[in-house]
Amino acid sequence: MLQIKDLSKSFDQNEVLKHISLTIPAHQVVAVIGPSGSGKSTFLRCLNGLETISGGSVTVNNHLLQATDSKKVRQKTIHAIRQDTGMVFQQFNLYPHKTVIENVMEALVVVKKQSKEQAKKMASALLKRVGLQEKEDAYPSRLSGGQQQRVAIARALAMEPKIMLFDEPTSALDPELVGEVLQVMKELAEEGMTMVIVTHEMKFARDVADRILFMADGQIVEDAEPKVFFTHPSTERAQKFLEKVN
Ligand code: ATP
Ligand code: MG
Repeated sequence: MLQIKDLSKSFDQNEVLKHISLTIPAHQVVAVIGPSGSGKSTFLRCLNGLETISGGSVTVNNHLLQATDSKKVRQKTIHAIRQDTGMVFQQFNLYPHKTVIENVMEALVVVKKQSKEQAKKMASALLKRVGLQEKEDAYPSRLSGGQQQRVAIARALAMEPKIMLFDEPTSALDPELVGEVLQVMKELAEEGMTMVIVTHEMKFARDVADRILFMADGQIVEDAEPKVFFTHPSTERAQKFLEKVN
């Protein structure tokens, strides 16, 4: 589903991702954890072309993106990759002047060229799935952060992605709203969605992820099952990190 080979990313002289190689099979739920500045967001952004990669390659669902590709080829591949990937960020980025259902319908009408009627039906079903059928006609500003983030997830799901990427989806939320968003993500995982999730929610990572990637200094320092990682981290870096967050 996802194949990453010798992926590097530099900003000027600063090498932020250093020769990362790994494969993520379909239906796997991967949690990426690690200290601030270790390259987690950059890693995620390289997977769907939000950052240009400096070296190596990324294959998402048979679309091969290589650092050596010409700009034209790259743009085409990135377009194809984005059709298959949904991304949810810390900030929800909803359209403030559109209602909840219009936010979810947008891509269906504009990208998928569905009729308004079709799009409305699908958006409505998605909002039901994230527990927001009551809020279809509300504006985002009238929603709690947790509700807004669930709309953002519904909006990403509207594209029927094969992979969902999450970058700290609960970090901007008040503590009491974190659970409802994690619950929606847990359900997605149980339905078999392939997911890569950057998170600071260690309990969620332990309970829901199939695999933990621990990043430090632009490298995957540990790649293990949650049970193993959280009880017996094999590197001192991970041990220190876990001591701090627990
Ligand atoms: P956090 O946990 O704080 O979100 P992170 O692990 O997601 O951190 P990144 O945001 O990927 O870390 O950043 C990794 C490094 O890349 C940092 O040193 C950061 O300063 C640098 N970096 C990220 N984006 C850019 C950019 N657009 N231009 C220059 N440097 C950048
Ligand atoms: Mg980040």
